[in-house]
Amino acid sequence: MDNSLVLEERGRLSLRPIDAGRPMTPNDVRIAVHTVGICGSDVHYYTHGKIGPFVVEQPMVLGHEASGTVIEVGEAVTHLKVGDRVCMEPGIPDPTSRAAKLGIYNVDPAVQFWATPPVHGCLTPQVVHPAAYTYALPDSVSFAQGAMVEPFAIGMQAASRARIQPGDIALVTGAGPIGMMTALAALAGGCAKVYVSDLAQPKLDIIGAYPGIETINIRTTPTAQAIAQATNGWGADVVFECSGAAPAILGLPQLARPGGTVVLVGMPVDPVPIDIVGLQARELRVETVFRYANMYDRAIALIAAGKVDLTPLISATLPFADSIAAFDRAVEARDTDVKIQIEMPAP
Ligand code: ZN
Repeated sequence: MDNSLVLEERGRLSLRPIDAGRPMTPNDVRIAVHTVGICGSDVHYYTHGKIGPFVVEQPMVLGHEASGTVIEVGEAVTHLKVGDRVCMEPGIPDPTSRAAKLGIYNVDPAVQFWATPPVHGCLTPQVVHPAAYTYALPDSVSFAQGAMVEPFAIGMQAASRARIQPGDIALVTGAGPIGMMTALAALAGGCAKVYVSDLAQPKLDIIGAYPGIETINIRTTPTAQAIAQATNGWGADVVFECSGAAPAILGLPQLARPGGTVVLVGMPVDPVPIDIVGLQARELRVETVFRYANMYDRAIALIAAGKVDLTPLISATLPFADSIAAFDRAVEARDTDVKIQIEMPAP
């Protein structure tokens, strides 16, 4: 058995064989994993051993942002074949559940999500996955881009929840990876311009290089002041809160136009205060986002069409043998790093 990247316990990773697989069913495919992106949640399990109610109590394989090649196909699978390049949706709901029937399978209480304890992730040579949650990549979409579909799908979910109108002006607070994905999804979704605010100039330089995106460094200009200037005091049509920072969340009502929309994307570690009267006084619509549902096809279509280019957000690619070093670099959270990816050895 080949090595996987195993989180043995909080703060301790190892490369070793582990039985992380599940048996093939007729509706599954087996995939040789090619590329895996490191996500903030993987890093948080590494440094803290838990996220909210999810606690690492036994060794767990990390990783949930993956692409690869189909190497075996279950007998009931019709839309995939051996050799197909694919990316995988890491959450597997119960297809008969009430949430799945409603199309909101991301909030199915029974969902099994890679690298969310006790479910193993995909930093392992092979995974068995439901074909229904495995998506073929067009030739024009690389494995690296395929492994970016997962975080981009969160931005897509945010843009969809916002119900963007063509020509909207949007604001994204927080230029972390998800803030950047949300800004690009909002642009692709019809926004005329997207403002992105953050403290870290290197992050703003990366996302500000995209046409249609303007940046606000909140060290020099408060976001409320910058957005008021940009909109003649009216406010943004849509505000995507992607920082998870308490002051940003408290100040949200001052950023949106009357009758506008606020989308809560960032996840504060602890509960934070919300200015309810501020939201009411402008009759703002508040939406929340948890992962995504039915976004992979759309995300892949936008990338394949050349309407979204995620490649500039891939900061480094390390071989699997160096994946512990890759995680330690992700823990450093350099301002110039957006996404670090790991490439598995050729099967
Ligand atoms: Zn992720």
